[in-house]
Amino acid sequence: MNQRLQKLQTWMKENEIDVTFVTSSENVFYLSGYYTNPHERLLALAVFQEMEPFLVCPGMEVHDAKRTGWEHEIIGYSDIVNPWELIHKSINKRLNSIQKVAIEKEHMNVERYEQLSLLFPKAAFVSAEEKLRRLRMIKDAKELKIMEEACSLADYAIEVGCSEIREGKTELEVLSAIEFALKKKGVKEMSFSTMVLTGANAASPHGNPGETKIQKGDLVLFDLGVVVDRYCSDITRTVAYGDINDKQKEIYDTVLKAQLAAVEASKPGATAAEVDLTARRIIADAGYGEYFPHRLGHGLGISVHEYPSMTETNPLIIEEGMVYTIEPGIYVPSVAGVRIEDDLYITADGPKVLTNFPKELQIIR
Ligand code: MN
Ligand code: MN
Repeated sequence: MNQRLQKLQTWMKENEIDVTFVTSSENVFYLSGYYTNPHERLLALAVFQEMEPFLVCPGMEVHDAKRTGWEHEIIGYSDIVNPWELIHKSINKRLNSIQKVAIEKEHMNVERYEQLSLLFPKAAFVSAEEKLRRLRMIKDAKELKIMEEACSLADYAIEVGCSEIREGKTELEVLSAIEFALKKKGVKEMSFSTMVLTGANAASPHGNPGETKIQKGDLVLFDLGVVVDRYCSDITRTVAYGDINDKQKEIYDTVLKAQLAAVEASKPGATAAEVDLTARRIIADAGYGEYFPHRLGHGLGISVHEYPSMTETNPLIIEEGMVYTIEPGIYVPSVAGVRIEDDLYITADGPKVLTNFPKELQIIR
C-alpha cells in the first residue's frame, strides 16, 4: 500500500469510515498513480480501512491503469454493463456492513449519489474532500521536482511571449506563438487557457485574449501555466511595450513591492491571512485598495487551484512543503492592469521561488 493510501486509511480508522469512494480524476491520480479523463464514464477508487482497495475504470483502460503501476484490483466495465453492480459485488466481498461512506461531495453528482445510496441504504455519507485537500497540500520531493520543471517551462513561455511583442500584433498572435514554442519543447497541455492581454484589456483580472493589437505605451500581461506529469505551474508577468506613463509605472511599482513583501512573509508559522494582508496593506496604503479585488494566491499542484487559499481571513498556518502562488494585482478600468505571480515552495527556512523570470519592469523596445 502506498503512503498516501496509508494516510487516508489512518484517517478512515480515526473517523470510523468503512469505504472512501473517490471519483475525481485528480484524487484518483493522487492516490493510485493512474490518471485518466473518463468524460461521462465512471472512474472511481474504493479504499477500505484494512482490505485491498480497488479501481473502477472503463474496460478499455484496464491495461493502461496496470501499466502505471497500480498493483491492486481493477474493475474494468464495458459500455453495455452497469458498473454499479460490479462495485456492489466487490465491496460486499470485502465488507458486509457499511455504516459510513466518505465521498467527494463537491465532485459527486446526484445520479451517482443515488446509485451509492441504493447500494448502501443504511450508510451515512461524509465528505472526503477536506482530508484529500490537506494531504495534497504538502508536496513530497518527487512532486517538487516535477513542479520545478513545470515552472521553468513557464519562465520560458514568458520569455517567448516577450520576444514576440511587436507593434500591431494581436493578443492571439502572441498567444499562439507561445503555445507553438512550448509544443516544440514537448509540452502537451497548458494549466489553463493562456492569457495575453494588452492595454485596457489587462485591467480585467480574468480577461479574454482576442484581436486587440499591441501598441507602443501598452502594458502587456501574460498569465499562463504548463502541465508536466499532471502537475501545473502558474505564472503572471506584466511587461511594458515602449515607454509607459507615470501612472502605469506607479501601479507596477506598487504591485511589485506588495508581491516581494508577501513572498518574504511566506514562512512556516505565518498564517495565510498574514501573508495576504502583507501585500494588501501595501496596495491599500498606495491608494489602490479597491483595485485589488481578489485573494493573494492559491495552492498549486495536480489542480491549478487547490489548498491553501491565500485570503485575508484564512487562519491556516503555512507549513514546510506547501506550494502556492503569490499574485497581487491592481486593475484600474481603462487605465492599466498589472499582476505579478510567482509559484513558491515553502522550506523550513522560508520561501523558495520556483518561477524565475525577472520581476523588475521589463521594457520591450
Ligand atoms: Mn494563479
Ligand atoms: Mn495565473
